[in-house]
Amino acid sequence: MLIAKQKNHVPQNHHVTAYIGVGGNLGDPVTTVRSALAELGKLPRTSLRAMSSLYRSSPMGPANQPDFINAVAQIHTTLAPLALLFALQAIEHQYGRVRTGARWGPRTLDLDLLLYGDRQITEDVLTVPHPGLFDRAFVLYPLHEIAPDRVVPGRGTVRALLAGVMDQPIEAIR
Ligand code: AMP
Repeated sequence: MLIAKQKNHVPQNHHVTAYIGVGGNLGDPVTTVRSALAELGKLPRTSLRAMSSLYRSSPMGPANQPDFINAVAQIHTTLAPLALLFALQAIEHQYGRVRTGARWGPRTLDLDLLLYGDRQITEDVLTVPHPGLFDRAFVLYPLHEIAPDRVVPGRGTVRALLAGVMDQPIEAIR
């Protein structure tokens, strides 16, 4: 029983700082992203500590789809990484995300576990830091807004990574 519990969360007084990427481009994505950010604060064993502005960017994949809206949240959590991933997927389902199979296709809501403390995780269903973190302006601009000096394990600071994506067009929604 104790072992099962330890798999799902870390001790209450040892919270981990994690960063979640939030994005979507279907329906009313500004409202959806704002609601999803609020949902993160309602997760068990989790508190919402900071939110970036919202950012608008053109889709990376098929061009015949609406612009994406993205943001990043900082949370404190005692959920273990997989438990957190499954909780994020439950929020995606709640917002009716449909997996069409098309990579980078349109989506109601996409939640990515970008960073989990300083952990590096390689499991079948979970890679942390999220592989999209290193070279995507729509992740790095909002992450830089709330955590410029954060070190991405094995990659240096968010500030340094941002310098590599400044040629990608993106607009902050004020
Ligand atoms: P995507 O369609 O890009 O949102 O990918 C979803 C899939 O990525 C899910 O099956 C997850 O298990 C997997 N995945 C791997 N690493 C992560 C991560 N750090 N955050 C979110 N999903 C992840």
